Amino acid sequence: MATITLESVTKEYDKGRITQKKIVSAVTNINLKIEQGEFVFVLGSSGAGKSTLLRLMAGDTRPTRGRVLLDDIDLAKLPERRRPQIRRRYGVVWQQPRMIEDRTIFDNIAITMRAAHAPKKRIVEAVPKALGIVGLRNTAMRYPHEVSGGELMRVELARAIVNSPEILIIDEPTANLDNDTAWDIMQLLDEINRRGTTVIMATHAKSFVNILRKRVVTLSDGRIIGDVQKGRYGYIV
Ligand code: ADP
Repeated sequence: MATITLESVTKEYDKGRITQKKIVSAVTNINLKIEQGEFVFVLGSSGAGKSTLLRLMAGDTRPTRGRVLLDDIDLAKLPERRRPQIRRRYGVVWQQPRMIEDRTIFDNIAITMRAAHAPKKRIVEAVPKALGIVGLRNTAMRYPHEVSGGELMRVELARAIVNSPEILIIDEPTANLDNDTAWDIMQLLDEINRRGTTVIMATHAKSFVNILRKRVVTLSDGRIIGDVQKGRYGYIV
């Protein structure tokens, strides 16, 4: 089980210069609980604080105030030696693609497993399985520049799920994709979620959010202005 809890979380950045501080609050006083198996959209316009919220939930950045808990573990207080173990419970896809161009897609996906010293036997099983889930079984020996943008997004997803994470966090996966491809990605995320993985996805695409009827947490200027539970009717405007 993996429950994420944010308690009065604020994250501030210093956007000033060396001589003059300028503190801005990216997210302010967030209280939120996400249970294992949920599918949650984090909706908001650019600069609303979506990426910051996702990074806080992944333990990728520490709150300035408040606490982020994974079950009863305070992510900011985690000793360095326990970090890899916690990190493996998450699959993450950030906005910047992280493919290594001169490595095959197989190797790009295997990287996180090799880093975790997974046995070779497990790697040769898990990588094709992850590629199979995203519908790209035949691309393992290709290089990143040999596949399309939509396929690359799916490779990123394969890499994020290869360690069978409990939680999948994705920042704007459909931003640069055409509508059909974006839909394919959404279907795929839905399927991954049905297998039991918590899916938390940032987006500004209200059209998908309205049709899919998942839980929607809406951010504006770093604050939660709406939290609509799954299956509730009514459009997000
Ligand atoms: P979104 O993902 O909704 O576009 P972000 O979380 O990226 O929003 O940004 C929220 C606010 O925090 C913005 O004003 C942004 O400029 C600021 N911000 C985010 N990350 C940093 C950073 N590393 N340093 C300084 N300011 C940041």
